[in-house]
Amino acid sequence: MPDSKEQAAKRRRKEAARRRLKEQRRREVWYLRTTVLIFLAVLLLLIGVEMFMRIREQGQDVQFWTQTQEEEGKASDTEDAMGARETMAAAAGEKETGAIAGTENAGVREGEQTGGSGDEGISHIRSCSDQWNLILVNPWNAIPNDYQVELEYLSNDQAVDVRCYPMLQQMMDDCHGAGLDPVICSSWRSREKQEALLANKKYRLILAGTPVDEAAAEAAKTVALPGTSEHELGLALDIVDSAYMELETEQEDTPVQQWLMENSWKYGFVLRYPSDKSHLTGIIYEPWHYRYVGTEAAKIMYEEDLCLEEYLEKYET
Ligand SMILES: [Zn+2]
Repeated sequence: MPDSKEQAAKRRRKEAARRRLKEQRRREVWYLRTTVLIFLAVLLLLIGVEMFMRIREQGQDVQFWTQTQEEEGKASDTEDAMGARETMAAAAGEKETGAIAGTENAGVREGEQTGGSGDEGISHIRSCSDQWNLILVNPWNAIPNDYQVELEYLSNDQAVDVRCYPMLQQMMDDCHGAGLDPVICSSWRSREKQEALLANKKYRLILAGTPVDEAAAEAAKTVALPGTSEHELGLALDIVDSAYMELETEQEDTPVQQWLMENSWKYGFVLRYPSDKSHLTGIIYEPWHYRYVGTEAAKIMYEEDLCLEEYLEKYET
């Protein structure tokens, strides 16, 4: 029957068309699903990479701080100690160093900020000399922002103001000549370095649980604010005895300190932060921190037992 033949052919065509449509839809769904899956996979990959990078960064931070803490041992976080640690490693290529503890600016800066007993009745002088070797830098006298220093690098990567270099070299030579072994563990520091020391301290305080909004003020109590550290001048040095490389009060008993305290003035260097002058210097006793002031001033300061603040007040105002 032609009719039914035609109908059967029509049905087959319809059936074929339906199958094609079905196949097309199936393919479309497959494409859509694949696209979504690829998209999700890429998204997950990106998230994974991002997380990995973050974890890695945190890991590096932790590793850095852990390492620093280990090197630090029982050391405090003060700027001399932190500054010294970096260079001690170089200096101690010859000798392994243990813990280094420093206290520059501790306590007294705190007194300054809280109006504590250390400051009572003291009127702090302002920098009052035009001579480069007598520039006054302390918590009350910041380094001018345009201060320039020409550096001379020492063999262990330390650097000082080129103008005090010959006398420093002479002093170190003579100290060695006396059978001693002094080590310069810290010298010139850039403003950036000082800022980094302060930031490090702040970061450590936060890690140790200090609230974020209090960390900056807390850090400034033990690390000089950038611009108020004598180390930025290139005229200050931390010198220790190779047999006892710790920035602690006991440093004063080492043969090197005994020699330096007795002789450094001859080369124009003074022990900058004597034990009984903290109320004037703003820095507690540091029997390792020497400052170049020139031979003339150093001689008078030594003979009359004056710190730089007292010397300037007496002779330069
Ligand atoms: Zn120092």
